[in-house]
Amino acid sequence: MDFRFSEEQQKFRQEVRDFLEEELRQGLWQPSCDAWIMGFDPAFTKRIVQRGWIGLTWPKEYGGQGRSFVDRLIFTEEILRYGAPAACHWNGDRQIAGAIIHYGSEEQRKELLPMILRGETYIGLGMSEPEAGSDLASLKTRAVEDGDDYIIDGQKVWTSMGSHMNWIYLLARTDPDAPKHRGISEFFFPTNIPGITVRPIVDITGDVHFNEVFFDNVRVPKKYLIGEKNRGFYQIVNQLAYERSGMERLMGNYPLFEALIQYCKETKRNGKPLSEEPVIRSKLAQLKIEFEIGRLHMYRVTLAMDEGRAPVWESAMSKAYSTAFEQRLASIAMEIAGLYGQLAPKSKWAPMLGLAYHSYLSSKGYSLQAGTSEILKNILASRKLELPAQ
Ligand SMILES: Cc1cc2nc3c(=O)[nH]c(=O)nc-3n(C[C@H](O)[C@H](O)[C@H](O)COP(=O)(O)OP(=O)(O)OC[C@H]3O[C@@H](n4cnc5c(N)ncnc54)[C@H](O)[C@@H]3O)c2cc1C
Repeated sequence: MDFRFSEEQQKFRQEVRDFLEEELRQGLWQPSCDAWIMGFDPAFTKRIVQRGWIGLTWPKEYGGQGRSFVDRLIFTEEILRYGAPAACHWNGDRQIAGAIIHYGSEEQRKELLPMILRGETYIGLGMSEPEAGSDLASLKTRAVEDGDDYIIDGQKVWTSMGSHMNWIYLLARTDPDAPKHRGISEFFFPTNIPGITVRPIVDITGDVHFNEVFFDNVRVPKKYLIGEKNRGFYQIVNQLAYERSGMERLMGNYPLFEALIQYCKETKRNGKPLSEEPVIRSKLAQLKIEFEIGRLHMYRVTLAMDEGRAPVWESAMSKAYSTAFEQRLASIAMEIAGLYGQLAPKSKWAPMLGLAYHSYLSSKGYSLQAGTSEILKNILASRKLELPAQ
């Protein structure tokens, strides 16, 4: 086992850092937590596109660079370290392009991948429904064949990017009579088709991140069915592994970690810097230990991807571990900030630019989105420990 990055990889990391440092110097954006889901900035995405940093792992014949998943992880690690606004291209680059490459027809690859590569598709993920979250196979949204189209009726909820999306990835029931896992299909289509209504949900931080999306008699051309009809549930298991596997599960609120360390160095209580308090030093050191373990988990997941396997149990393990780290980071930052931690980001008295406030309020969601920790442990129990499936 060799833990070192190759010289090329180190050069690539430096290139990404230099780019992000320059962006910061020019004041093009402010670092923030959850910027990979909340940082909607088409101009930033376009600059990433110009660098050729979308589609790093895709085959060259589809405009990608055929690089390793480790290279891509290096890239996402730096984007998250700097809290850069990466929401526009995140879903497409992370998982939808992979699904199209894997399950799509040649025609779909040629039509859809270039749009993702140009950073022009802002993709909502339409899976969960009011009565289908962990038990996704219970979903009720229906897609009924009608000539050259499917007619879609139903409702999705918690659709991240829903307010900005111009394309949606959707799971719908195409055979109501089949056992529930066997009658579901995957679709990917533009959201300018009549009959789609998006209703934003204001979250606990006061921001809008996820949405309700309603489908009323939405006519979707058959060419947007991805993969095999009625096999969508089995296809999505792999896609979910990619959704769960990324560095964003560990570093979604990383700017808070650095801000917290800085805050402890700069802030005095009772005439003494917080950084000299043994209890605080110990908590920060413990966070660092957990962060580095999470990071190793993430690189392990990408090694599975580089072997060509969907990292189903590896990503379940790393997400359950890493989101627990993120929650502890947010809690410890709030604890150290004390009562000031309750001040919202725009308050001039908010410590750490209000990052602790934002992360703390968001942090419950970290272990829910993309599969709850309980479900991930179920996956680990059955897929790795070979315990009976539940
Ligand atoms: C910030 C955020 C963003 C999200 N973005 C999206 C998105 O873009 N697209 C999308 O489709 N969805 C999205 N979701 C929804 C997310 O996938 C669901 O919240 C998640 O799958 C859980 O489903 P649920 O909320 O219906 O909870 P439920 O499934 O009702 O679960 C409730 C509780 O019961 C536990 N539980 C359920 N079943 C079991 C079991 N078999 N064994 C043990 N425990 C169990 C769960 O762990 C949980 O604690 C998002 C959620 C959040 C919080």
